[in-house]
Amino acid sequence: MNVCYDLHTHTTASDGTLPPSVLVARAVAAGVDVLAVTDHDTTEGLLEASTAAKGSGICLVTGVEISVTWSGQVVHIVGLGFDPENKTLQAGLAELRRFRGWRAEEIGRRLEKHGISGAYEGAKGYSNGHLISRTHFARFLVEQGYAPDMRKVFKQFLTQGKPGHVAGEWADLGKAVGWIHGAGGEAVIAHPARYGMTRTKLRRLIGEFQEAGGAALEVVSGSHSRDEAFTMAKHSRDFSLRASVGSDYHGPETPWADLGKLSALPDNAVPIWRGWPDLAVSIPA
Ligand code: AMP
Ligand code: MN
Ligand code: MN
Ligand code: MN
Repeated sequence: MNVCYDLHTHTTASDGTLPPSVLVARAVAAGVDVLAVTDHDTTEGLLEASTAAKGSGICLVTGVEISVTWSGQVVHIVGLGFDPENKTLQAGLAELRRFRGWRAEEIGRRLEKHGISGAYEGAKGYSNGHLISRTHFARFLVEQGYAPDMRKVFKQFLTQGKPGHVAGEWADLGKAVGWIHGAGGEAVIAHPARYGMTRTKLRRLIGEFQEAGGAALEVVSGSHSRDEAFTMAKHSRDFSLRASVGSDYHGPETPWADLGKLSALPDNAVPIWRGWPDLAVSIPA
């Protein structure tokens, strides 16, 4: 049987638009067999997701997407199959969320100076009591008519050199991989083709990640072209890393990365789930 994996998705616990239970129901309906909910810097949605998964036939793998600063750039490290109760991991994530909270206020202050009032409160409203992401600011700014769509609003307001951009230090790469490992999980470089790095810089990142004990590259991603998937498969082989598959689904508003619709891993890639003994890393149903 062909098992359908989606190991990178978001819920309202971070910047997705569906609550965990609704995401799980949609994944079941889309034919996903093994799902990881990987919210930014939090595992808050995992309990609701695992309750929803019970009896549905879907296998849920614990997940998180950790924000990391590496060589002056933000990169995302997905953790899979870890113990969500692990204290060191949770302390690390809590620290990142504290930074997020401060950053959100600072983004609000900067936009205010730029003549856009109420952005912090607006973003907070979209986040519904959960952590605040730039995505929540983006939704507010689009709704207020400051930009026509999500892509443009990031480009005009929320990226380096733009009025609502705030630089800062996220987690250290080695530490983030260490937290995931220490909690019994495996680390994956999320959407490696999306960082705009030169081939040399990307391979330096992959080398350091591998030395830190990283397990896999996300080879098939909702944000990768087929050519990018083949290139990333080659990098994963070169560094003896395995390969992961994830849509990076954020909700039905972004149908280009739908659940259960990903293409297969290139033949030469070693799947991350090779060596997962009979899905022993899943949350017990
Ligand atoms: P943050 O972690 O708060 O800095 O927000 C990063 C999130 O913003 C990413 O996970 C994406 O969901 C979203 N994002 C970043 N760039 C873009 C873009 N150009 N268009 C749409 N969403 C984006
Ligand atoms: Mn996101
Ligand atoms: Mn990401
Ligand atoms: Mn993501």
